[in-house]
Amino acid sequence: MNLKHVKQQLHKAYFELLTIASSQCLEKSLSFMTERIAQLEGIRSTGIYRYCEDGYHLLHRVEMDNSEPSLNSRVVPEHMEMHQWIEAKNVNGYFMKLNAEYVLYIESKKQMDHLLLNMLQFEVVRMLRAATWRMNQQGQFKFLYHLSIRLFTMENKAEIVQEVITAITQFYPSYTTQLLLSRDTDIEIDCPIQPITYNDEEPMSYSSMAFISGEVQIEKHSEQIYKLFAPLTGNQGVYGVIQLVKEEGVYLQKNDVQFIMEIAQTAGKSIENASLMENSSHQISDLKLINDVTHKLNSNLDLKGIMEYVRNKIIDICQAMEVGFIFKRDHEYTTIEAASTSYFKSQGGAFASYLLENIDGPKFYGNYKEYPGLPYRSLLIIPMQQEFEVYGLVVIMHPLSYFFSFERFKLLQSLIQHCSLALSNAILKEELQKAVITDYLTKLYSRSYLEEMIIKLRKSTAKGALILFDIDDFKRVNDTYGHHVGDKVLKQVADVIHEYTAEEAIPSRWGGEELAIYTPNQEIDDAVALAKKICQHVERSTDPSVTVSCGVSSWGDVGKDTVSELFIRADRALYEAKSKGKNSVVKS
Ligand code: GH3
Ligand code: MG
Ligand code: MG
Repeated sequence: MNLKHVKQQLHKAYFELLTIASSQCLEKSLSFMTERIAQLEGIRSTGIYRYCEDGYHLLHRVEMDNSEPSLNSRVVPEHMEMHQWIEAKNVNGYFMKLNAEYVLYIESKKQMDHLLLNMLQFEVVRMLRAATWRMNQQGQFKFLYHLSIRLFTMENKAEIVQEVITAITQFYPSYTTQLLLSRDTDIEIDCPIQPITYNDEEPMSYSSMAFISGEVQIEKHSEQIYKLFAPLTGNQGVYGVIQLVKEEGVYLQKNDVQFIMEIAQTAGKSIENASLMENSSHQISDLKLINDVTHKLNSNLDLKGIMEYVRNKIIDICQAMEVGFIFKRDHEYTTIEAASTSYFKSQGGAFASYLLENIDGPKFYGNYKEYPGLPYRSLLIIPMQQEFEVYGLVVIMHPLSYFFSFERFKLLQSLIQHCSLALSNAILKEELQKAVITDYLTKLYSRSYLEEMIIKLRKSTAKGALILFDIDDFKRVNDTYGHHVGDKVLKQVADVIHEYTAEEAIPSRWGGEELAIYTPNQEIDDAVALAKKICQHVERSTDPSVTVSCGVSSWGDVGKDTVSELFIRADRALYEAKSKGKNSVVKS
């Protein structure tokens, strides 16, 4: 074998390969190389192997037809272990390591000297490098192009990340690829995610360094890349870090690092795009929601209707477990509106008063612990205000900590702000309606409301009793202590009556110092018993002490009796009580 001649042939093959490698796939380049080596003078057969997890696998084999098989001749094996290619040397068969991945087998007719073998190895390595480099570049560009197109059309951040991990895993199966995300990320994916760890310790971890600097970080072991951290960078920030850790097989080369970096950057930009899209569609849907609510509130709902509507919207928006509407009435006592959910209605009274006293602005709590015994950790408190004056609070709660997002809190704030005017108008309207049917001095219902309600209740309930009260010798109270004290006593009597009135009964001011209660569904004797209790209590709790006389009547023949007859009978009984010496109860 002429060394010079062999060298020339190999050089020729090298240049031919350059043109092949730029347009063909790696497979073709390798078979071309094997072919050309086999055609060299004095070569019987060649084979090229590639390293895979369990050893070297034959990719191409060329056995020259015209070669006369020698005694020692051997068939190029399909699969080899590492030790085999060391042992093969004694049969004019030579295994040459080309790089970490490829091995060349050559069997010559005669023994080859070192000089020739070294030259051959040098030239083939050069050819292989040209073939794989050209090929990788080509393949990678093509791959990146298609990946970018796919990623930029995706709107879901989790899908983008998933696609990128799959791509890198396919390209570099000898490394384990994993996604690292910061703890405050909103990307939710199925595959295991590791949090990026921040600490003040020196040196900083590679992952946080990649995250903070936005640059690829590499951990090397004896000059080989062992770990690689590629940040997912966009124009506005870093969205995570892709981590590759060496398991087995081939190591990453310089151009691989560049390639991974480009994939990570494409991913980062795509995530950024998806986030912008997501934000703008959120904003549009938020605006639409507020618009819908405002529209609904203008449709003349009453206070309860408005609050029920707003409560349902709040639950829709943030999956709240409890929603409370609490108000300060007459600057003193706290009311919890009926539209509130169960905690507020059943046991939230003291908590509501506590909040009204202590909260002066919107509050966002992720792990609330200030009120002892409260079983809710996440709290959003949003004041309702009109012309800078806070008239109530909306309290939104969930038992889990950090349940609500700050972004939802902002949306709820703007929702409540939009509802505030409608709510305060509805409250005013309700108060006005109440004032019309309420007696100013005694706070009992007016006589007109009492009459209206008796007629109404008469239609839905078969029974009912009317108790008429008249304060005894009230003129004397006025004459003795003055009209002002007279008013005070009248109010005291009204308070006793109020205290004894059941939910469904109607306590009212009949006129002057005469008061009345209509008790639907009650037998006359029960009404008499109630009246007696009130009489006793009035005598005890008025100051100066007064007594009352009562006349009690109830419905007679079903259907025929009229309201005015019911009044007349009660009035007559009252007159009788007066004439019998006052401070007593008489039924008609
Ligand atoms: P009797 O036991 O027979 O009911 O005697 P009386 O003094 O209560 O009866 P009379 O009808 O003579 O007097 C009612 C008095 O109640 C007259 C009126 O000045 C007084 N009165 C009625 N309305 C009010 C009120 O709103 N405030 C005060 N202070 N007094 C009132
Ligand atoms: Mg009177
Ligand atoms: Mg009187």
